[in-house]
Amino acid sequence: MPGPEEILALLGPDVCARQRIRLDVEARKLTSFAVGGRAALVLEPLDFAALCALSAAFQANDLAWRILGSGSNVVFPDAGFAEPLVLLSGEWSKAFFLTESATQDCVAALGAGLTPLGSPSLSLPASSASPVGLLALGGASLMALSRESAKLGLSGLEFAAGIPGSLGGGVKMNCGAHGSSISVVLKKAWVLARGGELRLLDGAQLCFAYRSSAVKPGEIVVAAELLLERREAQEVQAERARCLDRRQKTQPLKYPSAGSVFRNPQDLPPRGGEQWFSEGSGAPPAWWLIDRVGLRGETRGGVSFSELHPNWLIKTAPQACAADVHFLMDEAARRVRESFGVELIPEIILW
Ligand SMILES: Cc1cc2nc3c(=O)[nH]c(=O)nc-3n(C[C@H](O)[C@H](O)[C@H](O)COP(=O)(O)OP(=O)(O)OC[C@H]3O[C@@H](n4cnc5c(N)ncnc54)[C@H](O)[C@@H]3O)c2cc1C
Repeated sequence: MPGPEEILALLGPDVCARQRIRLDVEARKLTSFAVGGRAALVLEPLDFAALCALSAAFQANDLAWRILGSGSNVVFPDAGFAEPLVLLSGEWSKAFFLTESATQDCVAALGAGLTPLGSPSLSLPASSASPVGLLALGGASLMALSRESAKLGLSGLEFAAGIPGSLGGGVKMNCGAHGSSISVVLKKAWVLARGGELRLLDGAQLCFAYRSSAVKPGEIVVAAELLLERREAQEVQAERARCLDRRQKTQPLKYPSAGSVFRNPQDLPPRGGEQWFSEGSGAPPAWWLIDRVGLRGETRGGVSFSELHPNWLIKTAPQACAADVHFLMDEAARRVRESFGVELIPEIILW
């Protein structure tokens, strides 16, 4: 991989002039787990045209790169990162409600006329029609979208009340909780393909499945339209509060983490003809398997499997590093494989 100065030279002055550029960044500060080394180069495109130009320049120069959202599902390597990291920050957090005519040409709206989320001009269309289309850019905070839409009596994003991700990361991961997910509310998404071609994809084309979508590495979720139902604001806010309350009780939220470590196994056959566990039918959740192989509370360096929720790894000491995360994940996967014959699949993304 070329060094950062060489990469900037390859991208060229015109492309670079449209980016906020940072060199040698403490990358752990960009993630919720807060472990890992330094990022050699961080690029933040100032607008949509800048992002397209950047994507095309990466492609033309055959350069590897990655996009980071809010960093709430990613663990950086301790050795750091030579590939440029793209962040959708600043203007990329905007969202606005769609009127009939704006729906016809959202792509044009990406460039101009967007209203910052939460500003006084974020007002609902006057008609009482439901559902309401909410267009948000890829860097918008899911928590903010959930909070602001609930205040306005729009239902659909209550599940996202405690998910500290961006809309782009949420679409890529098909994030979800409390029986819902992004796929339930998403109408369509604008995805920038490698090389700068913008595609408009609906839910079927995004092939949503449990914690996954068809968004591939090198593709960028630029914006998405969500469909939210009108309800009493009090009801929507009460549902959000219930979601947050459940999290407080079951998740170790005061520690840095990246949320659930492994996906919950799906469609496992009954074990020797018997139910897996008495608490419920079907496949056992990952926390149960990790608990049963003795890893609840297990610590390596500055990282532990949470006592409260054994499928969460938490940072418990400042010296925590990505190698501790890798070690504990490998250990859990090995023990669960040997004890139960179940292959745990990571939900956390290890870079
Ligand atoms: C306290 C806590 C609670 C959590 N609870 C939940 C939960 O209930 N349910 C759940 O599903 N997850 C949960 N998570 C995990 C995480 O918040 C979600 O996976 C979230 O969707 C990740 O979004 P992000 O912007 O942080 O993505 P990142 O972590 O930044 O990136 C994740 C992946 O998405 C890609 N990506 C990011 N932005 C874009 C973009 N614009 N276009 C294309 N690709 C992109 C990245 O390259 C990477 O591959 C939790 C995490 C924490 C720390």
